[in-house]
Amino acid sequence: MKYLKNVANEKLDFNHAVQLDDSIWWVGHYLPDDPFQCHVYLIEDGDSSVLVDPGSKLTFPWTLQKIEEIIPFSHIKYFIAHHQDPDITGALIQMDEMVTRTDAVIMSHWRTNALLKHYELKLPLQCVEEMEWKLSLPHHELQFIFTPYLHFPGAFTTYDKKSKILFSSDIFGGFTTGWSLVAQDKHYFESMRLFHEHYMPSKEILKHSVKKFEKLSLSGIAPQHGSIIPEKLVSYMINKLKELECGIFLMARSTTNVYRISELNRLLKNSLEILVLKRDFMEIRKALQESIQKLLPAVDLKFFVRDHSGAVIDLSNDNVIQDQGIQNTLLNMSLIGLSRKKWRDLYGSQYYILEKKLLLLPLFSTETKRVISLSILELKEEIVMEEELEEVIEQIALPLSVAVEREIILRNMKMDKQRFYEQAIRDSLTGLYTRLYMEEAVSRLMKIHDRDESASFAAVMFDIDYFKKVNDTYGHGRGNNVLTAIADVILKNTRDEDINVRYGGEEFLSFIVAPEHEIAANVAERIRHQVEALSFGRGIPGLRVTISGGIAYRRQTEPLEIFIERADRALYLAKAGGRNRIIIDTKIE
Ligand code: GH3
Ligand code: MG
Ligand code: MG
Repeated sequence: MKYLKNVANEKLDFNHAVQLDDSIWWVGHYLPDDPFQCHVYLIEDGDSSVLVDPGSKLTFPWTLQKIEEIIPFSHIKYFIAHHQDPDITGALIQMDEMVTRTDAVIMSHWRTNALLKHYELKLPLQCVEEMEWKLSLPHHELQFIFTPYLHFPGAFTTYDKKSKILFSSDIFGGFTTGWSLVAQDKHYFESMRLFHEHYMPSKEILKHSVKKFEKLSLSGIAPQHGSIIPEKLVSYMINKLKELECGIFLMARSTTNVYRISELNRLLKNSLEILVLKRDFMEIRKALQESIQKLLPAVDLKFFVRDHSGAVIDLSNDNVIQDQGIQNTLLNMSLIGLSRKKWRDLYGSQYYILEKKLLLLPLFSTETKRVISLSILELKEEIVMEEELEEVIEQIALPLSVAVEREIILRNMKMDKQRFYEQAIRDSLTGLYTRLYMEEAVSRLMKIHDRDESASFAAVMFDIDYFKKVNDTYGHGRGNNVLTAIADVILKNTRDEDINVRYGGEEFLSFIVAPEHEIAANVAERIRHQVEALSFGRGIPGLRVTISGGIAYRRQTEPLEIFIERADRALYLAKAGGRNRIIIDTKIE
């Protein structure tokens, strides 16, 4: 496309023919305020010249004037009709009356001919398929490319081997709001997008044709509507078209506004993509909300579900919802769990409810067919439901239910895990940590201490004195009461960062964080003293218990096992020394 490589539209005079290449001309006409620009092209080749998609009755006078600026009209031998629409073939009626030569023909597909015959033209119809899809002119070689079902079964396009221009008819066309003969940049795709989305029946059919063009060496594309695509934009437009979703008219119900349908279609495609590609429900919710906000005045998207303890949870922020706190009838959480049949009894065939500024969509379990979630879209203002939007909601509902169901299962699993974990790390009688959890908890203190000498801590091993006797005298149950009471004393005298473990049946091990040794010793001494003073009152009158304790201060990098062993040894000394006392391991190794 020699002459239109880098041309700004302002430099062109559209009242005259515009030259594209050595013997190729644009002879179309701009109809003001018409989204379909009407482009007609002339391939000049002496008295075997070709007119591509002759145009409509409306554009005919200007097209004729432009043709005659270049060649006498009588030099046109071939009239190519890529399909039968009146905007490209209407002018044939006037042209037919003007043609005097007997060898002139209309070149089209048999499917087109079947319709053009209704014009009762004198010009004979020649089928491109009978010409083996090519036409040889003195100086040009034209190749016809079958592009069926791009809105019409007999549609085809024409490629000129000499100029390497593809006359693409409807493909690569665009809905244009302003006049632009030459596409200036990649933005042209946006007008192409809408045109193809609604005009072309499906992605598969479009791709089938576009792939044929990929094999051609192209200097430019000259469509019948929209803008001419210069070489620098050709591969970009081809690639974009290949991936474009088409057939949005399948979605159109009551609106004829293709812009709106296109937006809704994009919302549908976008939402389905989010639901397929994203795993994390928080991300899904956020992406869906953003996608919806492009189309509706939406403020917030929420999902309410019940976990298996029966609590209502707002999936967007993990909060447990108090049923009675919600005033709005729509947010009646008793709807969760409703069977599909019951829903039908209440709301008929309505699968969503729009009430003022709330849009509620119940999500049904694919398995139990009961409402598993109420999804609620909060709106800034009231909206009117379009049939097309209903269609989008209906199509999203099922994959959304699956995603919510997956999230509920995941959350229940997490809750179970948390509960099992709690059970494993906490001793059920005293509430102190179990020995199982000790290592994990203490290793954190050890790591800090290894890095920082001042983050020292002590281990205090307590053991109840003559506990066997308590059991023997008062019974095992009372013995348990004593254990709980002592554990409470220990808890009361230690801090959050300290770790208290029920180490054995009646042995407690406390790791006490203390920069100075004295502090831990004081804590241990206080515990010993308070246990001695414990009174079990009326339950076990006269019962007094005492404990013995052994303390070791941790040395940096000391393994846990050795550290505990030293505390245990000190405890042994306390027992041997007469019990009811705290002994500090002072042995330096
Ligand atoms: P010592 O002063 O030498 O420690 O004497 P002791 O009788 O306390 O001896 P030891 O420490 O060996 O005592 C262990 C007893 O603790 C044996 C067992 O009956 C009792 N015991 C261990 N676990 C529990 C428990 O969970 N509940 C109750 N009630 N008793 C327990
Ligand atoms: Mg013991
Ligand atoms: Mg004991």
